[in-house]
Amino acid sequence: MKKTFNLPRGTADILPEEAHRWQNLENTARKILARYGYQEIRTPIFEETELFTHSMGQTSDVVQKQMLTIKPQKAQDSNESTSFALRPEGTAAVVRSYIQNSLDKKENLSKLFYIGPMFRGERPQKGRLRQFNQIGVEAIGPESASPYLDAETIALSIDLLTAAGLKNSQLKINTIGTAEDKANFQTLLKRKLKPCLADLCEDCRDRFDRNVLRVLDCKNTSCKAVVKGLDITREWLSPESLRYFSTVKEALNALGIKYREAPDLVRGLDYYTQTVFEISDSSLGSQDALGAGGRYNNLVSELGGSAVDAVGFALGMERILLALEDETPAVSSVDLFIAALDETAIKLAFPILNELRRNGVAGEMGYRAASLKSQMRLANKLNARYVFILGEDEIKKGVVTIKNMATGDQKQESLTDPKKLAELLK
Ligand code: AMP
Repeated sequence: MKKTFNLPRGTADILPEEAHRWQNLENTARKILARYGYQEIRTPIFEETELFTHSMGQTSDVVQKQMLTIKPQKAQDSNESTSFALRPEGTAAVVRSYIQNSLDKKENLSKLFYIGPMFRGERPQKGRLRQFNQIGVEAIGPESASPYLDAETIALSIDLLTAAGLKNSQLKINTIGTAEDKANFQTLLKRKLKPCLADLCEDCRDRFDRNVLRVLDCKNTSCKAVVKGLDITREWLSPESLRYFSTVKEALNALGIKYREAPDLVRGLDYYTQTVFEISDSSLGSQDALGAGGRYNNLVSELGGSAVDAVGFALGMERILLALEDETPAVSSVDLFIAALDETAIKLAFPILNELRRNGVAGEMGYRAASLKSQMRLANKLNARYVFILGEDEIKKGVVTIKNMATGDQKQESLTDPKKLAELLK
């Protein structure tokens, strides 16, 4: 028996019947992103592994457990020892490109967006894939250093989700302060967590040493209970960071954006500073995060660029589509179906259809001779607005019978002028 092939675990085929939902989401996103002044950037889907380990932090879960590295079967070039990885997220690559293309020399604020696949070697489950898609934005440059841009970025993410049709998403915000504040917080958190180490899961006991902030993100019930009991406040934040956060909140209030302050919200990646936020939708169950983001003021310089600030987010497209209740099937239609009833008719119809397409008509034909009845069935399936019938009689007279499928009206027109035929269909 021949081997059959299945798609890799944790990936999905998007068939034509679902593709329109993706197209709608992308089109809506592009429209909203343009309103906020964002321009598209397309970077490769793989980069040097070190770009991700360096930016996301050696101790992040993604880098530790989920990186999909690429191993060429045989090194093409024996000098090439660089390791590559499929991108697990978009920010690092965008920042790499920002630096490499000297965008900082060209503009004070680069508002960049991307739409595309990301890859993480996770245990697949509902809403958690190994290849998934994100819509992400990054606002990088000296002009990014404003709490109003944090608020605008959050507003944009909410606008995108609302425009996509989501009504019940919840926004949580927090601040983790400057890099120094973050270090103070880590020390404080370690002090508070130390007596509870035995109640933490194995992963978190490891995180305690590697990346203590990650303990706050753990979904394990016993870890969640420990975190709840810690009574995390903001005493470790500098006045400057508190002021910054107040302005972000005031700006959100001015826009009428509802949010919940979550002092235990931290993002697992090393590069975040100041504002962090997460948007969730409870209808999604355990994997309820629709997207997340925040400010990352040190990443550009960490990756060798100038000292410029940045803020961004990424939304998970699969999760958005899962949360959307609307599953209306696509109603596609064609302008024209040509029912060519025998071989001579097919030979004649074939170039006519091509000419009509060149004149703007969306058309199809039956490519094999078949009865009028079976061809009409095909035309109906395609939702054709008009059908050209081309049989022995029509060919003799040099005409085509045009049937209007909505009214059932029929008339005959000369076959010799495809431009005129195209006009008739418009
Ligand atoms: P993150 O970069 O982990 O903050 O992810 C941002 C968003 O991408 C999440 O809120 C999810 O909506 C989505 N996402 C992240 N990982 C996955 C995954 N493995 N499968 C599907 N969606 C994901």
